[in-house]
Amino acid sequence: MSTSSTTARIAVFPGSFDPVTVGHVSIVKRALPLFDKIYVAIGENNSKRYMFPLEKRLEWLRGTFKDMPQVEAISFQGLTADLCIKLGAAFIVRGLRNSTDHGQERSIALMNHALRGVETVFLPALPEHAHISSTIVRELMANNADVSAFVPSAVGQP
Ligand code: ADP
Repeated sequence: MSTSSTTARIAVFPGSFDPVTVGHVSIVKRALPLFDKIYVAIGENNSKRYMFPLEKRLEWLRGTFKDMPQVEAISFQGLTADLCIKLGAAFIVRGLRNSTDHGQERSIALMNHALRGVETVFLPALPEHAHISSTIVRELMANNADVSAFVPSAVGQP
């Protein structure tokens, strides 16, 4: 009798999450049935300026996904494709809001495939989330606007 072994389907959902928004949460929830494990991974890019420190962004991600055991929040430096190899992840998850996202993401996805054979799975933003971006949320926060409709509850008001 042969025993069947299955390979865990592991994905990385990379981003800045500065801060995490309900759009990001929606993508993770919709990706959950596709994978055994999803690493929500904050890429640390030294040449990029962030509004919130890494520890804060990680804490918000961990709080947001605390009831989803398949999801783990981490941070990383370097190429996403290299992180995937390190974690045994064959897939990257990305959300697409519009044609600008699509144009940029397509090139990155093809490069990750060329570099490391990692496939990117795109999920379209739900219509009710297509206008939500961390950039706009940061702008609202900087002007003391109420962002509670756009961020998960783990993200406290500053
Ligand atoms: P990055 O700096 O890599 O763009 P972000 O944190 O802004 O990181 O976004 C991470 C991922 O989440 C990207 O794939 C982005 O397209 C997706 N995303 C961002 N906002 C939304 C949203 N409102 N709905 C769906 N996907 C989103």
